[in-house]
Amino acid sequence: MLYLISEQEGVISLEEKKRHSTAANVLYLLRYVTKVDRTYLLALAAALAVKLALPVVATLLPTAAVAALTQGGSMGQYLAAILGLMALYALGTVLSGCLTQVMDLKNMRFRIQTFVPIQFRKALTMDFCLLESPEGQKKAATADAALRGNNFGVEGMLRHLEPWLLNLIGMVLYGAAAVRLDWRILLVLLAMTGTNYLIALWAWHFNMQTKSKADLFLQGQKYLRREGEQPANGKDIRLYRMEKWLMDTHNTCVMGRDKWRRQSFGRRALRSVSDSVFLVVRDALAYAMLVGAFLAGNIDAAGFTLTIGIISTFTNWLNEFVATSDDWRYETLEVDDLRDFLEQKDVLNHGPGVDISQVKCPPEVELRDVTFTYSGQERPVIDHLSLTIYPGEKIALVGLNGAGKTTLVKLLSGLYKPDSGEILVDGIPTTDFNAAEYLRLVGTLYQDVNILPFTIGENVSGREDYDRARVWSCLEQAGLKEAVEALPKGLDTSITQQLERDGVNFSGGQQQRLLFARALYKNAPLLILDEPTAALDPLAEADLYQKYAQTAGGKTSVFISHRLSSTQFCDRVVYMEHGRAAEVGTHRELLEQGGKYAELFQIQSSYYRDEKEAQHENT
Ligand code: ADP
Repeated sequence: MLYLISEQEGVISLEEKKRHSTAANVLYLLRYVTKVDRTYLLALAAALAVKLALPVVATLLPTAAVAALTQGGSMGQYLAAILGLMALYALGTVLSGCLTQVMDLKNMRFRIQTFVPIQFRKALTMDFCLLESPEGQKKAATADAALRGNNFGVEGMLRHLEPWLLNLIGMVLYGAAAVRLDWRILLVLLAMTGTNYLIALWAWHFNMQTKSKADLFLQGQKYLRREGEQPANGKDIRLYRMEKWLMDTHNTCVMGRDKWRRQSFGRRALRSVSDSVFLVVRDALAYAMLVGAFLAGNIDAAGFTLTIGIISTFTNWLNEFVATSDDWRYETLEVDDLRDFLEQKDVLNHGPGVDISQVKCPPEVELRDVTFTYSGQERPVIDHLSLTIYPGEKIALVGLNGAGKTTLVKLLSGLYKPDSGEILVDGIPTTDFNAAEYLRLVGTLYQDVNILPFTIGENVSGREDYDRARVWSCLEQAGLKEAVEALPKGLDTSITQQLERDGVNFSGGQQQRLLFARALYKNAPLLILDEPTAALDPLAEADLYQKYAQTAGGKTSVFISHRLSSTQFCDRVVYMEHGRAAEVGTHRELLEQGGKYAELFQIQSSYYRDEKEAQHENT
């Protein structure tokens, strides 16, 4: 986490990132909101009309009162005029309050019901290779900021649309009256607005220079809290007494963010200091001039009140206009980050593709001179790899850590595509299939257990609506039927007790069996198992591999395992090294060849022999 504290981190220049203008982002959001909410513009127009009329009535009210008093007339007329205006004002205030609520609700619902799902859908459906890349992860983390509350990003921009328009129209309308004011007052007002604008710009520049670093502090806090709350991490944190270290790092992030916030807000707050100073000057000047004009008989009492009203309302429009424009300047950055995430272009084929029914079951898979390098890395992880897996063949993919096995699995699964070379399934290049369709051909099982907090049935089938008999049959083949039958709610038992009290917490082996049942339910012709038994004891592992071997019949399969003895049921072994197929042959052939595979196998078997002998001696 030390990088969070580095002074150099996160300083970005304004040119570094392509930005949309504020107007472009407002229009972007308006296009969306008017599509999902047909009455949005109507409510906005109504709110604007009422809020524009209110200050007019408020300005006229004291003017009318003074005029009625000074120009004579009956008490009845006077009261009728004043009471009429007051009733109008009260009605306007109530309407304005209601319309504010309506607009707030519309904006909030738009964020929560439209944009949060848009972001979620993107995260769920974007190409995995983009999501997994460091760039994609960063974009996903910063996109959140635009949706985190009422006054940020998406909702903030829409919330400020009404006051921005209101202030703009108010400024223009009252500007017509204001031009008739004394030029010295206008000068003070212009100086006030200009200073406000410059302060806002200065604060914004500071924000732009430092935002990226401050975002890292925020990401750090989120990351630490998320990891700290994971039950899986909870054991280590307690056993290795890591709580103080985590708390201290978290606090460093909090303090770092807080320091930035104070610096940023402090700069923005300077505007109110400048406002106060200018307001005093403005009022002193206005009153001095108007009192002088009144005493000289150039203006009557009603004119005096009206002019004071115009000056203060006009100032208000001006200041609020600068303030909302300033808010937008910050919110548009967040909307930009969100758009950056949403508008990432997929790299896989999402257009129409070859019909997957053309693929035979089991299919032949051919890797033809495949090369792949992760973005930002220099050395290829898969390096001109060529290999043919025949229909129905079971391949054991082995090799030391970092040899490129998992990467090869990602390529075979269609989650990534090769930089050069081709992967062909029954002679058809995988890139010719629609990416989502291709995924239907592949069943995978990984070592990192990935069970969602839904019911057992839903986890096995991957959907809410499923074939119960088929789920039971898959559980039986995976050796988990009895355990599920013993649960009172059977298939409807929730996995993990975090969401439901009567949920079940399966052991590591049971979880692997459940995932195996999921792969069986999918019944894809190409089966890939990436060290699914890494966390299991040898007995459970042997049992599971036996089950895999039985069910893999009729499928083309790739098994990755660290324990070389467990993949002896495979037809051929591919020993990978530096992204290449260094040795290929049957287990026996490779042993006879006496190469790296044979060496690794000898080391592992002598280790197991030693372990067995040690167990013997102890008994
Ligand atoms: P194996 O499964 O044989 O242990 P991997 O395919 O997981 O090997 O990794 C091969 C190399 O690629 C390693 O050096 C690893 O650090 C790197 N690598 C794996 N995944 C990524 C990734 N998402 N981004 C960048 N490098 C990666």
